[in-house]
Amino acid sequence: MPKQNAVDSAPEILHHEVSCPFCGLLCDDLTTRTENQRVTVQAIACPKATRAFAACVPPGEPLIDGKPAALDDALAAATRLLKRSRQPLFGGLATDVNGMRAALALAERCGAILDHRHGEALNHGVQVLQSRGQTTTTLAEVRNRADLVVLVGANINEDFPRFAEICLAPAETLHPAGTTGRQVWHLGPRAERPRQAGLRLEQIACPQAELLDTLNALRASLRGRAQGLTGQRAKAITALAAAIKQAAYTVFVWAPGQLDAGAAALLIGSIGELCGELNRSQRAAGLALSGNDGAQTALAATAWTTGYPLRLSYAGPTIDYDPLRYQSRRLLAEQAVDALLWINCFSPAPPPDNDLPCVVIGTAGSELRRPGSVFLPAGTPGVDRGRAGPTASARPPATAPER
Ligand code: SF4
Repeated sequence: MPKQNAVDSAPEILHHEVSCPFCGLLCDDLTTRTENQRVTVQAIACPKATRAFAACVPPGEPLIDGKPAALDDALAAATRLLKRSRQPLFGGLATDVNGMRAALALAERCGAILDHRHGEALNHGVQVLQSRGQTTTTLAEVRNRADLVVLVGANINEDFPRFAEICLAPAETLHPAGTTGRQVWHLGPRAERPRQAGLRLEQIACPQAELLDTLNALRASLRGRAQGLTGQRAKAITALAAAIKQAAYTVFVWAPGQLDAGAAALLIGSIGELCGELNRSQRAAGLALSGNDGAQTALAATAWTTGYPLRLSYAGPTIDYDPLRYQSRRLLAEQAVDALLWINCFSPAPPPDNDLPCVVIGTAGSELRRPGSVFLPAGTPGVDRGRAGPTASARPPATAPER
């Protein structure tokens, strides 16, 4: 029931079992309080969600060249800008399924190139999937079935703050050993230990640059061929190999966005091969912690709509998929595109530096205030439904540019 706020008479509304859109874990147990169009999270210890909900201010006003404008005029200006472009780039793509469907439909009409703001991290996993395949699992399987979890270079504190609480040492699990029977190992740069009661965590510290070698040493140790290994790290690797051999179900977890770009695909491929080797005699799988800023949504919606993953172009007579050629960062740096449509509905971050004609669809804080730019305010998926924002007039919207 809405409650009346005594100070300024604005209704205060509590929502229970709210899904959080701000990382790939999609926790669905939040309680939020909306008051004076501000949303706060109640009684959940997640600094990321607390920050992100607090930053969700109402979407702001449309802008043309940095000056306030009516929404209809801003839509018409965006249409003109895209019509004039010979090769537009649609970047960011931080939106929900409906937003992504609309972006793909518009890209087809404009002959645009598409890439997500986390396109580089997404591409590492896609490359491995395309070339070798992978055995993967789900968050629920980790929580309920895995008895050994190896975090490979994944710093869960920063990007996935409740992973330990929800999956590694949950209050409830279907696993027969209960919540305390699971071992967790961390390979990679020493990170702050997640503050989670009941979590048994062992660390094998190594720099990012040596993560692939460390993983390969683990594979050698599991095959009984690690005679050359010496020192503390070697001892720890041998202990981890022994724990994996004893385990019924091992899950290797990584966060593609946190891996060194140069070695990420090799590392993910190596984890896939390790799972394949283990699955001959026991059970093992991988889990990528990803999906921030709608990355997984954008990838899935693109795949089921076009048959291709992201980094594709509608510029030619047929859809062209090329993960190297259509990197947005490179296209912007080489000025290979002449207009940018930037979609960012999850955080108040503007598009990357550029001086192109630019349309931004996003939350307040994403706007550009310079000549040659149009800002179209948009809500945050999962947060802004029903919250007041600018509305277009009843007349039909400006037509999408035809090519
Ligand atoms: S862990 Fe992720 S999904 Fe869960 S509350 Fe925090 S930011 Fe939201």
